Amino acid sequence: MALLSKKMQDAINQQINRELYSAYLYLAMASHLESENLSGFANWMEIQAKEETEHAMKFYKYINERGGRVILKDVEAPPAAWKSPLEVFEQVYEHEKKVTSLINNLMKMAKAENDYASESMLKWFIDEQVEEEDNALTILEQLKMARGAVNLIFQIDRALGKRKDD
Ligand code: MG
Repeated sequence: MALLSKKMQDAINQQINRELYSAYLYLAMASHLESENLSGFANWMEIQAKEETEHAMKFYKYINERGGRVILKDVEAPPAAWKSPLEVFEQVYEHEKKVTSLINNLMKMAKAENDYASESMLKWFIDEQVEEEDNALTILEQLKMARGAVNLIFQIDRALGKRKDD
């Protein structure tokens, strides 16, 4: 198997940075939600942050397997506070859509380079993004339906508190 092209290596390195930023963003959201006494939302967000770190590690391992070199850059600082759980999930959904477009761009690059190994690796992320967007949208829609009603937000909080680390 040919070595990873310089262009693909740089693009995947950039994606490692974006996945780590995602982890950082979700951890900041977890911390914010915890401070608002929404520990179920915070639990969901902590697990989400951990998953993003795992995404970064998948790309990390892949670069190494292909004889490339991982170069880590600064991770941007995320925001620290949000107006409401609704605003949090609006941003989660927008963020995941952006990540999907980044993954799609990587897939385009892999196809253009006839890099079948990268295509195969990226296929997992394409599928994963369908799930990530669906999860975020489901919670966002529930929060929209709750219209800020505290009892309904607590119900959602209780449900999200049941998410298990897998
Ligand atoms: Mg991710």
